[in-house]
Amino acid sequence: MDAVGDSAAERVFLDGRDRLGRVLAYSRRYDFQTGFLNYRPFEESLASLLRNRLTDQQFALLWIEVQNLRQEFLLRGAAGDEVMVRLIAESLRETAGADALLGRFGGSSFLAAMPAAKFNTEDRYRIQTIADGLRIPVVAAGGARPEIAAGAAFYPADTESSPELIRFAGLAAARAAAVRSSAVIPFRPEMNDLILRDFQLELEMHKGLDAGQFSTVYQPKVDLKTGRVLGAEALVRWRHPEQGQVPPNEFVPIAERSGLIHRIFERCLRSALKDAQRWNHQLLDVPVIAVNVSAADVRRQDFVSKVRRLLAEIPIAPTELELEVTESMLVDDEGLFDLRLRQLRAARVRIAIDDFGTRSTSFNMIKRLPLNSMKIDGSFIRGIHRSESLRALCQTVVAMAGSLKLHTVAEGIEDREELEVLRQMGCNAGQGFLFQTPLPAEEFSEFLRQWPVRDNSSFGFTQRMKSSSGHNSQSLSPNL
Ligand code: C2E
Ligand code: MG
Ligand code: MG
Repeated sequence: MDAVGDSAAERVFLDGRDRLGRVLAYSRRYDFQTGFLNYRPFEESLASLLRNRLTDQQFALLWIEVQNLRQEFLLRGAAGDEVMVRLIAESLRETAGADALLGRFGGSSFLAAMPAAKFNTEDRYRIQTIADGLRIPVVAAGGARPEIAAGAAFYPADTESSPELIRFAGLAAARAAAVRSSAVIPFRPEMNDLILRDFQLELEMHKGLDAGQFSTVYQPKVDLKTGRVLGAEALVRWRHPEQGQVPPNEFVPIAERSGLIHRIFERCLRSALKDAQRWNHQLLDVPVIAVNVSAADVRRQDFVSKVRRLLAEIPIAPTELELEVTESMLVDDEGLFDLRLRQLRAARVRIAIDDFGTRSTSFNMIKRLPLNSMKIDGSFIRGIHRSESLRALCQTVVAMAGSLKLHTVAEGIEDREELEVLRQMGCNAGQGFLFQTPLPAEEFSEFLRQWPVRDNSSFGFTQRMKSSSGHNSQSLSPNL
């Protein structure tokens, strides 16, 4: 018997079912928070927009990635995240114009397709203004500043396919995030290969770490006056079975983004501690062993405890360990790094600021941070004997470091003239191919045995070097 619609209860049930059906249909098509289209309907609407366009009409697809949305949710709860999303959506709706097609995918990606031409300056400017405009209302409402990475792809200049147009805009936004650009980055075909290579390298790195393809090499830091080896810097090396040596500058950034850097750090610190211990036992004098750390390492909650744990497991005096942190990391998140560095200093571990000069760290920041030494970036050292301005710059850095009682190390010294200038200006130590290229541990032991007896007269060290046997208690820096 068909009793549909017969009773009031059934009517309520059917009404409810109808409403639920409508809600489900809506939620399949639209994002609830913003009313923007979800991925599938966005892609379909984009395809039909491109199909039905007027002749010669061109389009831009702008991809905006809000990078701190999840953080906002974690810090302020749903309310914080909702305010940011609502204001971004309102601003985008207003600035992208009435004929823009709007979409939202995966929570933090906002898309806008609109008529614009790739090579039209005014159109490009308008797209940049849309992206810039998103930050203003959220900040004005007292919210956290949205961290936005934006990319754009153009129809038909970049592609004529709608799914590809979306993907290309996404790749451009990923690139903007990787290089921390505040400008909207336009898609370039090589981004496809870059991302692909990044993914491949990341997979290969996982395998390589398990298969023991990573190793550590050491480069000496030498006292510019006496020629004494003051320490060694541990540097990671990756020998891929087919690709050969992959340069750290290529794989370290990928490891940082993918989280693999923690394994690399732990591996490198472990070998550095073991090798330092062995040199101690062999009475080869390496007063300080330095290990590089990335911002991603320092940010981790367990960073300091990991360093302490490894030091307890493979004991050397904590003052014999130095961690090299890059200048960029200090600029990006001073508060957190200040805290972590203080915890490390409390554990008596030394801290060096690496690549100094490459970012605009203020004198005040350097003064506040608990540092022991400052490494002047190689780009300021190469050709210093030929450049008045490089000399003036380094002289200022050496004087500043001196006034803060920091030890100065010049990186990347390649020839005798550079060494001479640096020595004259009172730089304490140097590192570079002139003295020695980085070496595996065994060869580094040999280097240590040879160094004092080698004919170093060409380096112009003033004092006769002592034998490397036995530990020299001479302090490295006033901060030790
Ligand atoms: P860095 O820490 O500033 O290391 C110094 C780099 O300069 C090393 O490059 C070294 O081989 C190179 N170098 C030394 N002397 C000279 C010279 O006279 N001339 C020139 N042109 N270069 C010289 P490398 O080993 O390729 O490492 C590059 C960067 O990768 C390092 O710069 C560091 O930022 C990063 N890195 C290396 N190992 C690690 C690691 O274990 N962990 C992390 N987080 N980063 C690492
Ligand atoms: Mg370094
Ligand atoms: Mg450096």
